[in-house]
Amino acid sequence: MRKPVIAGNWKMYKLVQEAVSLVLELKPLVANANHCEVVVAPPFTALKTVADRLEGSPIDVAAQDLCEETEFGARTGEINAAMLRDAGCDYVIIGHSERRQFNGETDQLVNAKINVALKGALKPIVCIGERLEEREGGRAEEVVRTQLSSGLANLTPDEVVRILLAYEPVWAIGTGRTATPAIAQTMHAFIRRFLMEQFGAAVSSTIRILYGGSVKPDNIAALMKESDIDGALVGGASLAPRSFADIVNYLR
Ligand code: PEP
Repeated sequence: MRKPVIAGNWKMYKLVQEAVSLVLELKPLVANANHCEVVVAPPFTALKTVADRLEGSPIDVAAQDLCEETEFGARTGEINAAMLRDAGCDYVIIGHSERRQFNGETDQLVNAKINVALKGALKPIVCIGERLEEREGGRAEEVVRTQLSSGLANLTPDEVVRILLAYEPVWAIGTGRTATPAIAQTMHAFIRRFLMEQFGAAVSSTIRILYGGSVKPDNIAALMKESDIDGALVGGASLAPRSFADIVNYLR
């Protein structure tokens, strides 16, 4: 059985005090959520404070990105895996479509970041997904296959099994246009078949594949009924404690 993961990506929102208020309100609302793992991804500036406030709670902390270099050194503006561990992170989001779009991140860079995250004892949440014109051109699976084969290149099955994947069709992110459960399930099953071919049955049956793209309290339950959807990466709806908690508590 794969334990679901519900992760909230706060993007470039929340000053430190707002971040603290959010998690202090969130904690009691998800206190009984034993059916899934709960993760929040504040901006870098709030990581340490949020992690301190969550100490002893089952909510884990993710960073939204990391540097592909492990060494300490002359990389102005960058944050390495050791710094993220030091700030209290267990997870790190890698290759979010906004980083691919606005920061020019390539699959090769994603691959390098996965490597340093794993070496640094962080669990990578690796984002993949096609753009609207790629889906409309019938190339969604081809695009996702390329992102997977380049992003996971040269990793061993033991490494890949420690990764979480997030299928996030770009046309569904922040648009209010969720993929239907059937569309998401079809792609998740495709991803699992790819993992089976490349890394074997143990990896493909163990790895968690989250869905992301306009997940809200009113659509999460239907998505989670699909056999290959193992959780959600939530953007906008994770910024308010009540809506994020309602997503976490989707079984009710
Ligand atoms: C995201 O940022 O990963 C995301 C899925 O955003 P939203 O839920 O707002 O579509």
